[in-house]
Amino acid sequence: MKKSILAAITVIICLLALNIAVINIVAKKPTVTSTIASTSQITDTQHQLGQNQNVSNANIQNELKLKRKTVYLTFDDGPNKKWTPTILSILAANHVKATFFVVGTAIEKNPELLEREKREGHAFGNHSYDHIYREIYASPQAYIDSLKKNDALLKSKNITTFVTRPPGGHRLDPETKKWLRENHMKSILWNLWTGDGDKIAHDSQFLVDTTQSGLSNLEDRDMNQVVVLMHDGLAGVPRNSKIYKDMSITREADLEALPIIIRMFKQNGYTFEVLK
Ligand SMILES: [Zn+2]
Repeated sequence: MKKSILAAITVIICLLALNIAVINIVAKKPTVTSTIASTSQITDTQHQLGQNQNVSNANIQNELKLKRKTVYLTFDDGPNKKWTPTILSILAANHVKATFFVVGTAIEKNPELLEREKREGHAFGNHSYDHIYREIYASPQAYIDSLKKNDALLKSKNITTFVTRPPGGHRLDPETKKWLRENHMKSILWNLWTGDGDKIAHDSQFLVDTTQSGLSNLEDRDMNQVVVLMHDGLAGVPRNSKIYKDMSITREADLEALPIIIRMFKQNGYTFEVLK
């Protein structure tokens, strides 16, 4: 009798240990990021804001071809009271989860929207504390500090992420790359530009057309892993500027374009996943 109890306890302990090991692996290893991180390493060196991303490395191309068709919808620069709620409602209506690359100052203004994003099962990326280029890119350490500040803010809301994205798709210096590596973090850009990051006003048709041609371009090269860049906010853009006014028009267009873009990926056989 005693032996069987002892055996049962041993089994439970083994199972617990195994479970903890699995949890640790999941916690330490960014799950879907390895492939996309590779993409981002390429795009990191090739990126120019406003242009399509070209992934040219042969190894990466082969790696991407092997995967099933997957799309990662990403939204930068929020959360924002004007646009985030509608984006969340569209995602919910379409049963799609996305990754929000959030900015610290926007989180402080709209903590309830961050909670809603979390509650509705979306993932998060760190997009710096304040998105102000002259501050965050004053030095490599300034960008690292901005990431750390936003990371601490996210942790205070019980959000842990291993994913970062530099505002403006800024090219990373060796010091930042080393810090990211040491902290098990990835810097992830995108390989599909919808056009909504342009500093001018666009209508929804422009965004849909740009996305369609970007997708065709990737499919022509058998690239099955698609990271789509969209925006749900305007963090870092001065409120009284002409750019803010123009880009606000594009944000409205984002709301109209999103359901069409989601349908486009569904019709083309893509599965929606998130970056963690
Ligand atoms: Zn941004």
